[in-house]
Amino acid sequence: MNQRIGQGIDFHRLEKGLKLWLGGVHIPSEKGCVAHSDGDVLLHAICDAMLGAAALGDIGHHFPDTSPEFKNIDSKILLERTLALIKAKGFSVVNIDSTVCLEKPKIAGFIPEMRSVIAGVLETLPEDISVKATTTEKLGFTGREEGIIALAVVLLQVNPRHAKA
Ligand SMILES: [Zn+2]
Repeated sequence: MNQRIGQGIDFHRLEKGLKLWLGGVHIPSEKGCVAHSDGDVLLHAICDAMLGAAALGDIGHHFPDTSPEFKNIDSKILLERTLALIKAKGFSVVNIDSTVCLEKPKIAGFIPEMRSVIAGVLETLPEDISVKATTTEKLGFTGREEGIIALAVVLLQVNPRHAKA
C-alpha cells in the first residue's frame, strides 16, 4: 500500500483588529483569527490532514499552543515542519483538497496565490493543491462572522526509495 489519505479540520474565533491569514496569504479584513500562532486556519487543517495520513498524531501534539516557541508563529513554518515530519516517514504529498467556510470577506481572488504559496512550501505544484471557499448561508457561528472553519483532505504517497520491495 503506497498511498495514504488523511483529513483535517480546524476552527478559529474571529475578532476585530486582528490580521487575517489564510493559506499563507494576508487577506484584508476587519476581523482576524484569535490564536496562539498567526491563526491560519487553512494551513492548520492541512497540517492536521498530513499528520493524520501518516498517523503521526495532530498539530496540537507537535506544536503545542502553550509553547512560547510557537507564539505568533507564521503557520507556513508549521507547514514546513509538518512536511519534514512526513518526509522523515518516507512520504510526499500527492494532492490536497480543502474548503474554507466563512461569511466574509470574499476570498476567491486570493485562492491562486494561496495555492502557489502552499505548493511552494510542500514542494509540489499549484495544480495539486485545491482551495475552495463557501459561506454557510448566514447559519451558525460562521454565518454570524464569529469564526472560520477549514477542512482539508490530503493524499500522501510513499517515496519510491522508501517503498518496500
Ligand atoms: Zn488552528
